[in-house]
Amino acid sequence: MAKYTPMIEQYLKVKEGAQDAFLFFRLGDFYEMFFDDALLASKELEITLTGREGGGDEKIPMCGVPYHAAEGYIQRLIEKGYKVAICEQLDDPAVTKGMVRRDIVRVVTPGTVMDGKIITDKSNNYLVCVTEDDGMMALAACDLTTGELYVTSVLSGAEWLRDEIGIYEPAEIIGDAALLDQLRSEASLLAKPVVYTPWDKREEELARRQFGEAAWVRLEKERGQCLALLISYLSETQRRSLGQLSQISPYEPGNYMILDPFTRRNLELTETVRERSKKGSLLWLLDRTETSMGGRLLRRRIDKPLLQRAPIERRLEAVDYLYNQFIVREDLRGALKEIYDLERLVGRIAFGSANGRDMNALKLSLAQIPSLKDMCLTSGSATLREIGASMDECAELRDDIDMAIVEDAPVSVRDGGIIRTGYHERLDELREASTSGKRWIAELEAKERVATGIKSLKIGYNKIFGYYIEITRSNLSSLPEGRYERKQTLANAERYVTPELKEKEALILEAQDKMTDLEYSLFTELRDRIAAQIPRLQALAEKVAEIDVYQCLAAVSAEHRFVKPKLSDGYDLRLEGGRHPVVEAVLKDSAFIANGSTLSKDEGNILLITGPNMAGKSTYMRQVALICILAQIGCFVPATSAEVPLIDRIFTRIGAADDLIGGQSTFMVEMADIQVMTEKATSRSLIIIDELGRGTSTSEGMAIAQAVIEYVHDTIACKALVSTHFHELAHLEESLQGLSNYSMAVQESGDKVNFLRKLVPGAADSSYGIYCARLAGLPEGIIDRAYGLLQSIEQAAPQGRKTLNYGSGYEGQSLPGEVREEVQQSPGQPQGSYAVPTMDSLQTVNSHSA
Ligand code: ADP
Repeated sequence: MAKYTPMIEQYLKVKEGAQDAFLFFRLGDFYEMFFDDALLASKELEITLTGREGGGDEKIPMCGVPYHAAEGYIQRLIEKGYKVAICEQLDDPAVTKGMVRRDIVRVVTPGTVMDGKIITDKSNNYLVCVTEDDGMMALAACDLTTGELYVTSVLSGAEWLRDEIGIYEPAEIIGDAALLDQLRSEASLLAKPVVYTPWDKREEELARRQFGEAAWVRLEKERGQCLALLISYLSETQRRSLGQLSQISPYEPGNYMILDPFTRRNLELTETVRERSKKGSLLWLLDRTETSMGGRLLRRRIDKPLLQRAPIERRLEAVDYLYNQFIVREDLRGALKEIYDLERLVGRIAFGSANGRDMNALKLSLAQIPSLKDMCLTSGSATLREIGASMDECAELRDDIDMAIVEDAPVSVRDGGIIRTGYHERLDELREASTSGKRWIAELEAKERVATGIKSLKIGYNKIFGYYIEITRSNLSSLPEGRYERKQTLANAERYVTPELKEKEALILEAQDKMTDLEYSLFTELRDRIAAQIPRLQALAEKVAEIDVYQCLAAVSAEHRFVKPKLSDGYDLRLEGGRHPVVEAVLKDSAFIANGSTLSKDEGNILLITGPNMAGKSTYMRQVALICILAQIGCFVPATSAEVPLIDRIFTRIGAADDLIGGQSTFMVEMADIQVMTEKATSRSLIIIDELGRGTSTSEGMAIAQAVIEYVHDTIACKALVSTHFHELAHLEESLQGLSNYSMAVQESGDKVNFLRKLVPGAADSSYGIYCARLAGLPEGIIDRAYGLLQSIEQAAPQGRKTLNYGSGYEGQSLPGEVREEVQQSPGQPQGSYAVPTMDSLQTVNSHSA
């Protein structure tokens, strides 16, 4: 092996501890990267690759970034999914003989960044840890920037893990290698790219110390193990206090509605399917929060609707009160607007990166608390009064900051100018010494001007020479010989010093040095004092967030004419005048057509909905799901009246065309999900199937659709909305007592189909697919041919399509698959004429609505 210089040897040793990260190796004013790191980083960061003699045969590839600009480069690497290990000089090179010691002070990973673009106001940046032990699966999710830390577990269940992870949308997942492999294979289900880090160092002792014995012993074994893994990873990468992780929030999965990643996506709860943007999602519509923590809490609530009536009623009570109290709502908003992101401020305080401005932001935020608290206490809402009563104003922290920090604090905490006069006696003395020294210098300048008669004489200062007296060249002749000591000659001036000037200078500089040191230590003392109160501040932040969410939901509910839902522990769902809140909000020119929904034990629990494309089927089905979710997060709902039973889980299966994965695999995924549905759905679930079975041949698709519907009806017995292209399935109404046919009404006028968007009883006659193709302007030749083919298909399967029955009753009928072959083999000209839908046939659909 090549013999390297001691510096490169040191580098290689440090690098051993950061194999999976870029090593930013501090050399003076730069972070340098070497070898493969340099080759890759120069590409990723578009920085120049150079070489350095390192004692080996060849130059070592090297590239570097200035230390003061490193933050941006680190962020870029993190955004690309890399990790960055930061190696600092541990000794001061100015006073060290030989080589300074260097070591990694922190490893920045996608799940542990504290700032930068990834960290957006109203969303979290989660690091998720997953473990499996004795059949128990546990998950811990933490956001270092806010200090949130959740932990939960269930008795085994890979899809549970997938669903749960989907909610956190983590930037990074750590955990058992085998488990990570399994998750990685389902990676396409996660909204954003994730970095996986296998990790097996479980340090229970660390975790015990982090959370305290009392909290620790209350944890279930598997949850403790999961947290131990997480904490050991954090301490290994962060290598500093994790004071912001003071509180564990354990939760039972059984207390929340289960929403798998598909469903969350299909219902566009937090982002849209196509653009994956917040705009256009339910969250976007609802988000009127004024604070960042309120925004994050709202999102969490949307992700986790509740399953128990009491806590939902508690939320609804607050929303109801604020719904009717416009002025109170506005007052609350006014106070909330002034509150900064308390959670992230606290995160920075714990992390040691908070500066004077952060302290002032905390102070200003705390200043709003008394009035916020008062508004809650005097409100007509029991929920708000309860929150108000439990609000800790943290007034002494506010006073503490107010006494210590100047109004317009600088960004840097190391250059002084941050601590108020009157806060600390010694600091005041030093300041006085420095100002009186400066005063003395000003006086000296005036005195010397008189003494020498040189009006332009001035006393200046620079870093290299300190204070000096400057005389311009033209005045030099007026200066008495030997009055000052010559120090420096410039092109048009001479600079001088005197022994007294140097003496004063020493005093001033010493005072200034001491001042900045003292200011820094006073600042960090204050920061530490506040860091010790982090749990109080976090508890306060939670209350603020909760109030914010209530005013937000009330404001949206009032503006969009939502009504308070009546929650029930029963089975029946009854909505009158239901609307899709987001579609309604974005419809510009036309009004949204409201539709009722009844899914009940007596009147039927399955709606089979037919109607042409664009008729409004999926909007309708989604609106029912959204109304249930809104009700269970404690929000009013878009309807004129709503009786909502507690839904334990919503499944949505949306046809292949809407899916991003595409092709055969989509069908497989869909079937796999149907399998999960058959296993997991209970009678309290809500199932939404949009064009089931579209990813395979027509007849197979139809067969599967029927079989699934029968299973939902007979075995699961839950509420279900099913839309289908296969209008032939309408006959199911006769055999399945709980199933009713509905369709979306359409009306034809001229050569236009008019969508009435009204749900009417009875099945649609035809799916109008070919008719829509004509409207879309396809050549008449294609349209005629399609009608011809359709007719031969219908003729070829006169019975089979009407009464598909794959149960024991099926014997000897022609299989749908054979029908397809027949069509392919004899695609001859259409015989006779197929009835193109006419005004009349379309009107029959419409007539249902009459
Ligand atoms: P389908 O699922 O039947 O193909 P969609 O539900 O996707 O139809 O609806 C198509 C479009 O019709 C929607 O994008 C929306 O703009 C509009 N729409 C749907 N339902 C309504 C309604 N109830 N009132 C007004 N417009 C609606």
